[in-house]
Amino acid sequence: MSNAIKNILVTGGAGFIGSHLCGTLLDRGCRVTVIDDLSTGRMENIAPLLNRAGFLFFKNSIMNKGLMDHLVSETDEIYHLAAVVGVKNIVEDPVRTLHTIIVGTDTVLELAHAHGNKKVFIASTSEVYGKSPDCPYSEEDDRVLGSTTRSRWSYSSAKAVDEYMALAYFNKENLPVVIGRLFNTVGPRQTGQYGMVLPRFVRQALTGSPITVYGDGGQSRTFSYVVDVVGAIIELMDYPPAMGEIFNIGSEEEITIMELAERVKTITGSSSDIITITYEEAYGEGFEDMQRRVPNISKIRDAIGFEPKTALDDIIRAVAEWIEKTGRA
Ligand code: UDP
Repeated sequence: MSNAIKNILVTGGAGFIGSHLCGTLLDRGCRVTVIDDLSTGRMENIAPLLNRAGFLFFKNSIMNKGLMDHLVSETDEIYHLAAVVGVKNIVEDPVRTLHTIIVGTDTVLELAHAHGNKKVFIASTSEVYGKSPDCPYSEEDDRVLGSTTRSRWSYSSAKAVDEYMALAYFNKENLPVVIGRLFNTVGPRQTGQYGMVLPRFVRQALTGSPITVYGDGGQSRTFSYVVDVVGAIIELMDYPPAMGEIFNIGSEEEITIMELAERVKTITGSSSDIITITYEEAYGEGFEDMQRRVPNISKIRDAIGFEPKTALDDIIRAVAEWIEKTGRA
């Protein structure tokens, strides 16, 4: 990062990833403005930042175009993280999901361009790949989705529209924009309220409740530590050749959900039972899960030398420590 003090706008900055991003940007000497409607973001996440010099918080929606226009006009760069998060929200509230993701990103891109092509990071997701069995996923791989009657895929499709719009602004308007496809990202401040597996398992383990594995637990994921992910996002923004490009951001350490449950149980020294629950019971009718989800991270490794540094066991310990300290999750 250059030495001039940058003004940065973080949409969704009171969220799990956004709040860690804000902390790191402040540590690096930036001024940070957050807009967050606290729909899934939490004041507690940014409470430690409120007294720091250069930090401003607006409790408002990115759909408030007048305010967004003002905030974008005052900023040098935008990290756009605001979106409806979590599979549970997506299945339960598809209208809001689609509207916020598509119209919100359109607003950010349009205003960034209107105010002189300000640099933008767009937070996308591994959900974009859908359920393609060809894992690990590379950025150029085909997307494989289910029917539009299966609401899960609405999130994937909406985020893909965001990517199309970002690339279109880059190609047609020279807007400097970089897209990060985030794979499962975990760490302190992530809530299990919207379905995310790790905080759920750790809380269940710590309270002695059954650890709820959905399906048969044979499905796999990779989990990367939020601090590592945030570092990668900032480095991509500071790497000019990244503009107009899409990067996977995630870890390559694959683990099945059943193994994750066992790992959490062992590390926390829990006496919880591990039980299985059908997808119908967990999410209702019409839900489809993906069996594997692993990134190929060659592109980001070659670009900025990204390596997911934090091992899963250390992440589980950090999450457990945070839940024990705050009583949250
Ligand atoms: N999952 C689970 N128990 C839970 C919550 C989630 O077994 O209490 C499973 C879920 O079905 C999925 C995996 O854990 O296979 C990861 O779920 P999450 O919602 O965290 O992320 P995503 O499905 O987006 O990868």
